[in-house]
Formats: sequence, C-alpha cells, structure tokens
Amino acid sequence: MRVYDSLVELMGNTPLVRLHNVSAGVPAQVLAKVEYFNPGGSVKDRIAARMIEAAEASGELRPGGVIVEPTSGNTGVGLAIVAQKKGYRCLFVVPDKVAQDKIAVLRAYGAEVVVCPTAVSPEHPDSYYSVSDRLAREVAGAWKPDQYSNVNNPDSHYHSTGPEVWEQTEGRVTHFVAGIGTGGTISGTGRYLKEVSDGRVKIIGADPEGSVYSGGSGRPYLVEGVGEDIWPATYDTKICDEIIAVSDKDSFTMTRRLAREEGLLVGGSCGMAVVAALRVAAKGTPDDVIVVLLPDGGRGYLSKIFNDDWMADYGFLTTTSDEGLVGDVL
Ligand code: PMP
Repeated sequence: MRVYDSLVELMGNTPLVRLHNVSAGVPAQVLAKVEYFNPGGSVKDRIAARMIEAAEASGELRPGGVIVEPTSGNTGVGLAIVAQKKGYRCLFVVPDKVAQDKIAVLRAYGAEVVVCPTAVSPEHPDSYYSVSDRLAREVAGAWKPDQYSNVNNPDSHYHSTGPEVWEQTEGRVTHFVAGIGTGGTISGTGRYLKEVSDGRVKIIGADPEGSVYSGGSGRPYLVEGVGEDIWPATYDTKICDEIIAVSDKDSFTMTRRLAREEGLLVGGSCGMAVVAALRVAAKGTPDDVIVVLLPDGGRGYLSKIFNDDWMADYGFLTTTSDEGLVGDVL
C-alpha cells in the first residue's frame, strides 16, 4: 500500500512554480516556492517538527507536556499537528491583528488560544511576548519552543528549504527572496545557498515598510507574519545582501493579482515577497533565476485582503470609471 504513516512525513518538499502574468515583461525568470502545499498550509510546518524533536531529545519536553508559544497562527498549526501525533497539549498566544479565521483554525486543531493587544510595546505585561513568557513559567510541564530564539528554526530551513531550492533549480538559482518574520526562513535557507554556491546566490529580504529590518521603528503595518519591532536571535544579520521595504498597499494588491492571474490564493506576506522579487527581476537578465518563497495560503485572509470593503476602508483600492473598485496595477 502507498500510505504515509503521518502527515508529519509530508512536511517540506514543496513545489517550485513559474510565475507568468505578474512577471510579464521582466527579463529574469521568477519561480515561486509554494509553501501552502505543506499539510498545515504554511512554511512553518518545517520548523515545528524539528523544534519538537530537539526538545524531546534534550528533555525539555516530556510526555504529557504543554507547548506554549506566541504565534501568528502558522507556527501554531504546524506545532498542533506534530503535538497531536505525540500527545502534547498546545497553548498559543496571538496578537489581536491576526485574522479571526486563523484563530479559529488553531482552535479547530484542538489548541487553546489567548489573544493579546498589538498596540503595546514588547515589554508591556499584556504584550504577546510577555503573556507567553508568563504562561511558560506558570503552566506545569510547559515548554516554549520560542521560534524567535530557537536555533532549530533557521536550522530546519538550512536542512530542508535550502537543499530543496538548490536541487529543484539544479544549482541555477541566482537570487532567493523571502519575507522576514523571525528570520528563520531567510537565515537558514540563505546560509545553505551561500555555502553551496560559494556566495554566488544573492539573498534578498522583503520587509513591510515600518519594520526594523528595513530601518523602521516597528510602527504598525497590516501585513501579517513578517516584519518586527525587535531583532530576534533567529535572524542572522550577515545573510541578506539587500532588504526591500514594501508598503501594505503594494503587498495586498499583488496578493490579489496572484490569485486572479496565477491561480495562487496566498497570504499577504506572499504578495509582499513577490513585489520584492519583481523589483529584483526587473533589473535582472534572462540568466537570472529568482526563487521567491510564498509562506502560506490565502484562505485565512478572505475577510481582509480579499474583501473589497476592507481594502477600500484602508485606501488600498482606487476607482475606475466602468470597472468599479479595482486594485492599483504595480
Ligand atoms: N509569512 C507568514 C504568513 C508567516 O507566518 C511567517 C512566519 N512568522 C513569515 C512569513 C516569515 O517567516 P520567518 O519567521 O521564517 O521569517
């Protein structure tokens, strides 16, 4: 029988898909690494399995333990899937800017979810960093993976995403573009691609305007899962050759175009990364092979990015005479 023993075996090995329409007219090839093919629907499945296995090996996580983590949703789903298989409880802390749908998904997997305000400093006792620290101290059997400092986060990408991109492009990749949240994806994948290519592959970070990685102060932006107001240990500052800041409006406009023009129903950080990739591709040559990582699917954002009223409320749509509300063309 051709059977997988568990969904965990299906994590990683996601496909590379060529972009055609949104990249029309740019000289370089742009290939999307579509992470919604992971069983939990996002790139974060990759880090979940590795962080849990390492904690079991070190004795930090024992049978019947509780996984406590601040997560915008995707890491929670990956952790919840692995935890179910291994019999752990999950207690997740999320900021209130996260879409309701994403929180409902975490609860559907059986996790408990605590929602905290976004508009407070990281040091504030109600911030999602502080609340998760407190729960990790107070709950019996708690273990906090801490995707913001856990070396197994970037290491999972060093051992999976990086080799996959290299093998799938037969070593022809010239640029790797990804959004930066914890920095795990770009740091681990980037380190692998730099090592295997003797530094030839250029690593480009995409960042929401206002986030610290592109020189901002951490002021609020709406794109989810990327950008920071602190510098996490999982982000290796030596890996990126360039960081490109992208506005919410450009990120969401491109996200909608990816669904309509490429059939890729993906999240807002995907649109952001594609905008950055296209800016690189526009300056490239036909020999350039630009791989852009798309972290998650779009179903968690139907009431926001894919909702015309929500987009219009933020001024992200403009009117044209006969087509009604349409997004700006980049
Ligand atoms: N996009 C989304 C939707 C995410 O959830 C994350 C993870 N926070 C990222 C991008 C960024 O990935 P990383 O944490 O590896 O930098």
